[in-house]
Amino acid sequence: RAKADGRSRSVLFDPAMEELRRNQRMLEEDLREALERDQLTLVYQPKFGLLADRMTGCEALLRWHHPIHGAMNPGRFVPAAEEAGMAATLTRNVLGMVCRQIRDWQARGLEVPVAVNISASLFATDQAVQLVREALMVSGVPPRLLQVELTEQVFIRSADAARAALHSLHELGVSVALDDFGTGYSSLGYLQHLDFDVLKIDQGFIQNLGIRDDGAQGNGARGNSLWIVETILRLAHGLGAEVVAEGVETPEQLHLLREIGCDAAQGYLLGRPMPAEAFATLFTAPVGGAVPHAEGRAQDA
Ligand code: C2E
Ligand code: MG
Ligand code: MG
Ligand code: MG
Repeated sequence: RAKADGRSRSVLFDPAMEELRRNQRMLEEDLREALERDQLTLVYQPKFGLLADRMTGCEALLRWHHPIHGAMNPGRFVPAAEEAGMAATLTRNVLGMVCRQIRDWQARGLEVPVAVNISASLFATDQAVQLVREALMVSGVPPRLLQVELTEQVFIRSADAARAALHSLHELGVSVALDDFGTGYSSLGYLQHLDFDVLKIDQGFIQNLGIRDDGAQGNGARGNSLWIVETILRLAHGLGAEVVAEGVETPEQLHLLREIGCDAAQGYLLGRPMPAEAFATLFTAPVGGAVPHAEGRAQDA
């Protein structure tokens, strides 16, 4: 009898699907509440200019302090929010927080360029551009202090729409960074038609820098990753874009990046994502004082 029930049920009612829907509804409710109750915050990860030898700006990264589940990682809840149709709401909030922070820093005499991640799905229409335009207008933030980070997902979804969006962002005066370059199903084809200001090399390549294929390490070791990173660097420079290396964790990686002429670096070595106050202190630290050391940099948030 139980067996018969199970079988007839599986036709009319899929428990796995129902579970998924219930989870999505819960997340949606939780997220709306989180937005109302300011449980969503931003942390800022320093971007270090290798030529200037100082902090040149930062990337805003989202954090959710969930009352029950604790600190939640954006890698988990951002895609879920998108599934629930909340990408625009989330992005409007993030852009609002970022712009208020930039204004706050400006009021204290700090000109901090901030990069913000925007979901690929919002580039299929002109939503992404509209949200950026709205945030700039409401806040009065100078467009030059805002940079939009997008992934190559946007070109896979809709190349024409993405191209139009990039053009509009540039017209607004906002710069554009291509995030996580070299991962996913990337094709070099789209690079022909697009102009980026910044290309961010994915941390997957950076973390293998200085490790040769036979496992030997040290500055003399020239493994595949170094060739790849150097080639991407040349490519980007040829296209008129600056290069940021993501996920720099060791002094040796930083050294190699300097040697091949990389423009900027981000990673735990230079600073973990941190609250706005901590970042402001780091940003204003005298040159030399900002030279990174592996240990003792500000805590992750
Ligand atoms: P992303 O934009 O590529 O951000 C870099 C991620 O790498 C961040 O993870 C950062 O904490 C981490 N990271 C930085 N340096 C290092 C390092 O040296 N080693 C290692 N292992 N990791 C490092 P996080 O904050 O968990 O964010 C994950 C992803 O979530 C981001 O990747 C971005 O795609 C997305 N995300 C974050 N904030 C937002 C947001 O406000 N809106 C949207 N749409 N997506 C966001
Ligand atoms: Mg990013
Ligand atoms: Mg990235
Ligand atoms: Mg990423």
